Amino acid sequence: MRHQKLFTPGPTEVREEILQAMATPQLHHRSKEFSKLYEEITTKLQKVLYTEKPVIIFPSSSTGAMEASVVNGVMKKCLNLVNGAFSKRWHKITEMNGVPCDALSIEWDKAIKPEMVEEKLETGEYDAVTLVFNETSTGLMNPLKEIAEVVKKYDDVLFFVDAVSAMGGVKIEVDELGIDMCLAGVQKCFALPSGITVASVSERLLERANKVPPRSYYFNLPLIYKYHQKNQTRVTPPISQMFALNVQLDYILNEEGLENRFARHEKMAKIVQDWARKYFDIYPERGYESKTLTCIKNTRGISVKELNEELAKHYVRISNGYGELKEKTFRIAHMGDTQIQDIKGLLALIEDILGL
Ligand SMILES: *Cc1c(COP(=O)(O)O)cnc(C)c1O
Repeated sequence: MRHQKLFTPGPTEVREEILQAMATPQLHHRSKEFSKLYEEITTKLQKVLYTEKPVIIFPSSSTGAMEASVVNGVMKKCLNLVNGAFSKRWHKITEMNGVPCDALSIEWDKAIKPEMVEEKLETGEYDAVTLVFNETSTGLMNPLKEIAEVVKKYDDVLFFVDAVSAMGGVKIEVDELGIDMCLAGVQKCFALPSGITVASVSERLLERANKVPPRSYYFNLPLIYKYHQKNQTRVTPPISQMFALNVQLDYILNEEGLENRFARHEKMAKIVQDWARKYFDIYPERGYESKTLTCIKNTRGISVKELNEELAKHYVRISNGYGELKEKTFRIAHMGDTQIQDIKGLLALIEDILGL
């Protein structure tokens, strides 16, 4: 069966070379060869994240790493910044783990502004903040740099960033920004099959995690870190995915180059967003449009479901709006290894189908 090319914000289209890498025969995860693979991957990831901090590999989807941050890194109280479905999920995760927390919730089409964060942190109630950098549910990119500047002023406040749909597509300088945990599942901008989440972990977070009463066995950071120092994983890792990740990191760093990759994402975003403003409108407030996906306001009242059915006949797929935004919006991902000509082809096809 011919597969549908994915223009969805996760999973994204995976190149043939990567699928082939997945078919590499298994290594034993306690072998020297495995440790070598692990070390190669984590060293390359430090380049992608602009960090000297250890980058840990979680054998889980992104949600697991989101959980790891709050169960290990909060002593007093966590501030969850909420302006979309995934940031709302992080608040829920914090609550359900019995970790003290408050949500700062605003309208989903608005960005979190640094002043809002400052006002909350000034109270001195919090020792951790969670931010979803790129809200995949709304196509909104929060002002990470400006928020990071605020959080930096508070020495005892740890900064956790979900960069799931941005890392590998947008430059994120983890050390410069002072991020204590920056996490991303690899099925989005890394353009890999799902199953792994990568996350940078600061010394401050590890120190905190050593003091916090253990709240999790599987996501226990000090224990995970013990194995990391030996280039090992504590549990049996997704080895096939790791083969793929290693090959893709070489492609990103050496074949395409990080700067070229970021520039390609910028170009694709501009093309889709100019198109969206011409024929429809864009959901998030101006100036905060995501560089990796566009959430388009369905101002023409088209049936998004039918559009996707028509697109399926041409073996491509986009995403409907998320949750309550279904049919009111639709989302086109321009992330991962999708190329400019792919995006132009998709938009031309949509114009054709809708008679624009
Ligand atoms: C996709 C996504 C997640 C959830 O990822 P899973 O890998 O399904 O757990 C979390 N946050 C953001 C911003 C996402 O885009």
